[in-house]
Amino acid sequence: PEILTAHDLYRFYRSGEEETLALRGISLSLRRGETLAVIGPSGSGKSTLLACLAGLDEPDGGYVYVGGERVSHLPEAARAQVRARRIGVLLQSGNLLPHLDLAANILLARSAARAPRPSSHQPDTGELLDQVGLGARGRALSRELAGGERARAGLAVALANDPDVLLADEPTGELDGPTEQRILDLLQDRARRGSGVLLVTHSRQVVRIADRVISLRDGRIRR
Ligand code: ADP
Ligand code: ADP
Repeated sequence: PEILTAHDLYRFYRSGEEETLALRGISLSLRRGETLAVIGPSGSGKSTLLACLAGLDEPDGGYVYVGGERVSHLPEAARAQVRARRIGVLLQSGNLLPHLDLAANILLARSAARAPRPSSHQPDTGELLDQVGLGARGRALSRELAGGERARAGLAVALANDPDVLLADEPTGELDGPTEQRILDLLQDRARRGSGVLLVTHSRQVVRIADRVISLRDGRIRR
């Protein structure tokens, strides 16, 4: 069963006279338990695609469904609800509020999903932090975390609502070997639990855990 479907996505950026076609007719789907890697050179549309799939950006054409719910072409409040209930997002810019501690960051993500799916298992804060190996750090302010800790904390926040789909941009970006492996284990575990996992990446290690790889070029799927 497909948990995410994107059909014929287009995205234009206009700034003054300049017009960039960032996405030119992208279709893809993701099944439960499947891990998909998206690769491609800088400027090929990876970040734009991820933002459209996550409901953080609105495509100019085409549509996105997650778990049978429409994500694209919805009023922002409705889009935010679908996002909170079904989609976990891990961006390079981070998804932590720096002056809140980790527990508060997780609770905040949780409160965004006002009506969780009945079937979802919302792990409690301690359980989530244990999963990512930060069980003792719930009281730490996120700005005090080291790089590897911050990446894992970001993942805990992305998983706060037991998402059907986990979307991550360079999840192992600047991490050292052991920390990278730990994040990869967590992502694989997520897929085993039945989520669809989509990873934008340049890393061979990340590509290696993927069931399928999509290569983007100039806003199109090349292979
Ligand atoms: P990456 O290659 O790591 O995916 P980019 O450097 O392409 O990231 O983009 C980083 C951020 O800058 C993104 O939020 C993207 O939307 C924005 N951005 C990229 N290109 C432009 C541009 N030509 N004009 C304005 N913003 C841009
Ligand atoms: P990637 O993530 O693969 O580096 P992006 O999705 O960031 O690619 O960018 C795809 C294209 O869209 C690039 O040509 C980029 O310059 C352009 N772009 C991205 N974000 C913006 C933006 N906010 N404004 C204008 N152009 C943008």
